[in-house]
Amino acid sequence: MSDFDVDLFVIGAGSAGVRASRVAAEHGARVAVAEEYRFGGTCVIRGCVPKKLMVYASGFSEMIEDAAGYGWDLGPARFDWPRFKAAKDREIARLEGIYQGVLSRAEAQVFRERATVVDPHRVRLASGREISAAHILIAVGGAPFVPDIPGAELAVTSNDMFELEALPRRAIVVGGGYVACEFAGILNGLGVEVTQLYRGERILRGFDDDVRLHVEEAMRARGIDIWTGTDLAALARPGNGAIAVTLDRGGEIETDLVLCATGRRPTTAGLGLESLGVGVSKKGHVVVDEWSQTAVPSIYAAGDVTGRAELTPIAIREGQAFAETVFGGLAVKPEHVLIPTAVFTQPEVGTVGLTEAEARARAPVEIYRATFRPMLNILAGRDERMLMKLVVGEGRKVLGCHIVGHGAGEMIQLAAVAIRMGATKEDFDRTIAVHPTAAEELVTMRTPVGAPVASPAMAPERTPAA
Ligand code: NDP
Repeated sequence: MSDFDVDLFVIGAGSAGVRASRVAAEHGARVAVAEEYRFGGTCVIRGCVPKKLMVYASGFSEMIEDAAGYGWDLGPARFDWPRFKAAKDREIARLEGIYQGVLSRAEAQVFRERATVVDPHRVRLASGREISAAHILIAVGGAPFVPDIPGAELAVTSNDMFELEALPRRAIVVGGGYVACEFAGILNGLGVEVTQLYRGERILRGFDDDVRLHVEEAMRARGIDIWTGTDLAALARPGNGAIAVTLDRGGEIETDLVLCATGRRPTTAGLGLESLGVGVSKKGHVVVDEWSQTAVPSIYAAGDVTGRAELTPIAIREGQAFAETVFGGLAVKPEHVLIPTAVFTQPEVGTVGLTEAEARARAPVEIYRATFRPMLNILAGRDERMLMKLVVGEGRKVLGCHIVGHGAGEMIQLAAVAIRMGATKEDFDRTIAVHPTAAEELVTMRTPVGAPVASPAMAPERTPAA
């Protein structure tokens, strides 16, 4: 097929790399893959999947509490971290095997070592062996970091959270993004005393303001002590086994674990890209065009390393589009619009499209919002409310949908299909409600926020099917 050893050399066997390898092989490409850690990447090994298992594990404490209201007497419950960790590790090993299976069915040559790029058509493996390739795909992802403060080595990152030997009694979680909020909820649900420090005014920057407020209040009500406008200044080990945390605004707190969930950085350092003329941004992301191609025509990049949207389904789409375009003779661009996403906080967030603030900055909008106590919470004696919000723009088009509460991630997937198809508010209104569910609120909100309420039954704050 060509004078090169392989048609495609993929660096990184995560979501983007494995998908690209498989699809390229299906189109007849000879593929090689290098991975220095485990197969499956962040998502499978130390991200989405083990995190979601931890969310499930931590959610049982709420279910056990709520069960009493439904007539159950369960007696004292105890969580066994080592037992959970072993079960989780077995599942991750199983999934890693599936990823390896995909590569072996694609007849990819697999190198379990680090690879760097030597020239536009050559990579060098840690063993010193060099392999030539018609195309190179950089799919190395990213890694979490600890801010550069005195005592930084005493903090852990999300990578370490999956490997803890034991759960701490107290923990400080730093950050206000996806990872910080999700781990604050996980630890709290598992019985750890959690303090969350966030340097900004309100957690989940970038999400709809009603969502941010709703989640922050609900997390506080569940027992997470959230300190906004507060950051770490230094960490020290005073000698009693605990960690002393000095705050930027003065004061000190003692804890047993400090998790820095302060973001992720692309792992491009030392790959040899800059010297070849592959553009690398200030933050270290590989600069690509809409086809995932870098400034060096034979070198492409996909997934978190490009910083376009650090989400598994996006990495998969980017890997697929690259392979279909380069090896399948199709012209497929990965799209980065209307990306639905869930944050597995407790309560959970599901969101797609524009926030109210983003939409208002473009044109006038109508807002439909309902907050209500879902039926599940009533007998449980739980006060937590759900939030549903639709942002409606010109032509009555639904521009954004934001949900907080049980099942928000599942619901938003389906709402995203409708919104993607250009659904109007009338399409939502015409859709028959599924009763009794929480999701039915999405199709029964009749009165925009701020408009006169026509009848008590149409009030924006109500219980489902009231
Ligand atoms: P984010 O960028 O979402 O959040 C980082 C947080 O840390 C922000 O609150 C930021 O504050 C704060 N921060 C950054 N630097 C510092 C610092 N030096 N000192 C103190 N605070 C700091 O990163 P995450 O690691 O939470 O998530 C990374 C990406 O992974 C997400 O963007 C998301 O795309 C993906 N992800 C998706 C998940 C999902 O789909 N459920 C789950 C987990 C991750 P500020 O707001 O002020 O910038």
